[in-house]
Amino acid sequence: MAAPTEAAFIVIGAGPVGCAVASLLHKQGHQTVIYERLSHIEPNPETSYPIGVNPRGLRTIRQISEGLESKVKAEGLLVQAWEIYAGKFKVATLRSGSTYGTTRAGVNYALYTDVVERGIPVHFNHKLKRIDLQSRKIVFDASSNEVEVDASKAKVLACDGCYSSVRKALEEQSASFSAQVTVWGSVYRALFSQTETPKLDPAIHYVLNGTYAAKASPSTWAVVLGALRHDRDHDFLLSADATDENVARLKAYIAQNVPKAVPLIPEQEYTDFWARRSFAGQVVQCNQVHHDDWILLMGDAAHSVHPSTGEGVNSGLEDAKVLCDVVAEVGNTPETFAVYNARRIADLEALGRLALYNERGTWDKRQKVAGGITNAVLGIGRAIGASGPPKEEYMFGTLIRDDNILSYSEIVTKWEQQMKPVQGFANSVAKLCTKQTPSPQPSDHDAPGKAR
Ligand SMILES: Cc1cc2nc3c(=O)[nH]c(=O)nc-3n(C[C@H](O)[C@H](O)[C@H](O)COP(=O)(O)OP(=O)(O)OC[C@H]3O[C@@H](n4cnc5c(N)ncnc54)[C@H](O)[C@@H]3O)c2cc1C
Repeated sequence: MAAPTEAAFIVIGAGPVGCAVASLLHKQGHQTVIYERLSHIEPNPETSYPIGVNPRGLRTIRQISEGLESKVKAEGLLVQAWEIYAGKFKVATLRSGSTYGTTRAGVNYALYTDVVERGIPVHFNHKLKRIDLQSRKIVFDASSNEVEVDASKAKVLACDGCYSSVRKALEEQSASFSAQVTVWGSVYRALFSQTETPKLDPAIHYVLNGTYAAKASPSTWAVVLGALRHDRDHDFLLSADATDENVARLKAYIAQNVPKAVPLIPEQEYTDFWARRSFAGQVVQCNQVHHDDWILLMGDAAHSVHPSTGEGVNSGLEDAKVLCDVVAEVGNTPETFAVYNARRIADLEALGRLALYNERGTWDKRQKVAGGITNAVLGIGRAIGASGPPKEEYMFGTLIRDDNILSYSEIVTKWEQQMKPVQGFANSVAKLCTKQTPSPQPSDHDAPGKAR
């Protein structure tokens, strides 16, 4: 039997959140170790997808080190605005100037580099297999054997993503824990390009008829396609086969839905696309994010959202900051996780409400219509000074600044209050003119091994 680990914190998952929290705790003088199921952290942006790191996420990165913040900014590109198109028409512009466009892989690799520089041990090829709440033992599937870790004297930080095995163990073994998961209605996959076109401005992120075109790095464009699960016309986008028929359908799809991006995409990319990874996901809402003084769920494991919120990695990075603030205040004690939970849970509940609303808006026609009416009425309200700014302004727009980062509770509550007087009317009109869309069901793409 192995002796209890000497690390104060065991981090499961070397994603952006696992790396960030490990670095911050190490900086505070706590011995930390990471276990990761993959064999390495992949730096290639083309293995992932574009993301926006906003001042909330950058604040945590800066707390790790100012040099790291400069690196993340330099490897990305400042987003001046999001432009949203329906057909050929631009229907909305959200100015930013606060958020950096980069990729999940780029941010993860930058954070991982800091972990390495600090000498924090990372055990690759260690996939969590079992975690036992009674004995406080953890079993990993390592390359050719099982590794048992006695974690009775350590705290466990579960940063193992939206299909978290730790969260599943809590659901099975803890009577006081529950989680609600809502599968995303779309599965995402990107095309990449190293060319430029005058039709697309590198400082703008485009939402074009359900696709997303953005600079993934100063030299790379990404065009992210969302395959709607309930739309049989999108089934081909989920295929892994580069058949002539699929290649032709993909070209036609891009030409119809994202004509601005056509000049970007090299011929070979229409074939390479089918070997690229696709990303499914789910909205995760937990009734609490800790188990006693032993386990804390963080990042997507605790509160996976939806890409359209733009808050996945940013909220997870904020978790790391909040935990380290709590540790600085109360120390590494049996109360640490309960204090964290009490401080964080209202924000995570608010984030969950926003994520569910946004996610549903990607596939439910009735909600799309209701949302469109609500936005139009609120837009008129803003023009005459009767409504406040849209919530996005406080998330990744012009109103989030280093000295003005509102909590998710504040942002979401303001937004709910804005919508309240309009929503009943908008829902009634939407009900009259649209049919209810059935909820999407999980598929093979949701297998945990396929999770990002
Ligand atoms: C298409 C798309 C667009 C997005 N856009 C944005 C955006 O613009 N802004 C934003 O903030 N967020 C965005 N996100 C979300 C963001 O990528 C995630 O919220 C973020 O990566 C979560 O970080 P994490 O560290 O919690 O989890 P993950 O990134 O999922 O990392 C989890 C880590 O745990 C490891 N792991 C998993 N299971 C085990 C196991 N059993 N044992 C050991 N290790 C394990 C994984 O290999 C991985 O390294 C987007 C997501 C998608 C899919």
